[in-house]
Formats: sequence, structure tokens, C-alpha cells
Amino acid sequence: MTSTTERRSATVEDYVKAILRTARGPRRTASTTGVAQELGVTPGSVSGMFKRLAELELVVHVPYHGVTLTGDGQQLALRMTRRHRLLETFLVEALGMPWDRVHAEADRLEHHLSDELEQRIAASLGEPTVDPHGDPIPSVELMMPVEDTVELGELVPGQAGVIASVSDTHPDMLRYLSDVARIGPSTRFVLQDKQPFGGPLMLLIGSRKVVLGAPLAASVQVRLSPAPR
Ligand SMILES: [Zn+2]
Repeated sequence: MTSTTERRSATVEDYVKAILRTARGPRRTASTTGVAQELGVTPGSVSGMFKRLAELELVVHVPYHGVTLTGDGQQLALRMTRRHRLLETFLVEALGMPWDRVHAEADRLEHHLSDELEQRIAASLGEPTVDPHGDPIPSVELMMPVEDTVELGELVPGQAGVIASVSDTHPDMLRYLSDVARIGPSTRFVLQDKQPFGGPLMLLIGSRKVVLGAPLAASVQVRLSPAPR
């Protein structure tokens, strides 16, 4: 038997969202270590929670690999992702909060939003489809647009593209990108050079040169465009 109240606890909501975010491969499997890293908890507590989520029929175990979301689990994860990203957009656009501060606020508020407030926020923002970090916002029918993006760090020199999204979880990194490197979603660039063995990347943005370390480049998703001649 499953309990509706327990299914809607903040911990359960955070876990299904983390599973959706870290799921990989054709079977969309999330591993214990992936979810532990995402939530900043120990693998031991993740294993315990995976069992509980399976009892709540929100996930099924994939032996030796982790878990995959059930239909119900997927719906709940998409609902929470929609609320989180709508709240981030609302905090930036309606309240003028800087983009590095909205993730933590949205993480707290997302668990307390009613369906009506969610709809009113979406309507007041003109039904946005991307959040301030460039991540897609699932539609009201809970459809997530499929993004054709690659990690910036995987590009080779000479390739050009547009920044699609930036990981929202590290405020210091977001501040560095907007205030020092002056880049964000929609910035066009050419990758000029990349040092081997995890060394830095040199981007050309207009006539400006920007150097980004490899860990930073791993947190940036880009859309490739044909290289300029
Ligand atoms: Zn966020």
C-alpha cells in the first residue's frame, strides 16, 4: 500500500527530482553514487531511500545499476522540476533576484506551492519555457522538451556554438560566469583552444577572449552551430 502523504514529503520530492536529473542511458537509470552526489548525502542513505521509494511505487530497482522512475515517479519529478524552474524564473524576473541566489530559494519554496499558485506564476510570466539558467521548464502537461546539447568540455578547438544552460547549483560559479567571464545562456562562442589533460579552454566571444577551467566547462551545456569561416 502506498501513502499519498508520504509520497508528497519534501524528501521524497527531492529524491525523485534528483533521480530524474541524474538518470542516464537508454533505460534512464539513476545510480546510488550519482544521486548521493546530487543531493550531498551518503550512498548509504540513498540505498535506504531507494528501498522506500520502491515501496511507494515511485521507482523500480535495476539490479547492479540503481533505479528507474515509474510513471508516477516520473510525473512527480516533472511536477517538482516545473515548480522549481518556474520559481527561479519568477524570483529573477518578477522580484529581480540575482541568478546565483534563486536555486536555494526555489529548493525550499517548491514543496509548498499549490496547483493554483503554480498556474498563476506561469501565467504571470507568459508561460516561460526556459529558466534563468537556460534549463527547460516542463509544460503544464508535464512534457519536458528534449534538448540536443553537449558539455562544453567535450568540444574540440574550432567548434562553435551557443551556451544552452549552466548548472544552477554552484552560486560562486554562476557569479563568476556572469560577473567575470560575462557569459550565460544564449552567448555565442568559438572554442579557440583547449589544453590537454583537463587543462583550461579558451573561448572567443565576439572579439573577447575568455578562459574557463575544465571543471567549469563541465557544468556548461551548449548547442553546436556550424563553425564560422
Ligand atoms: Zn535550480
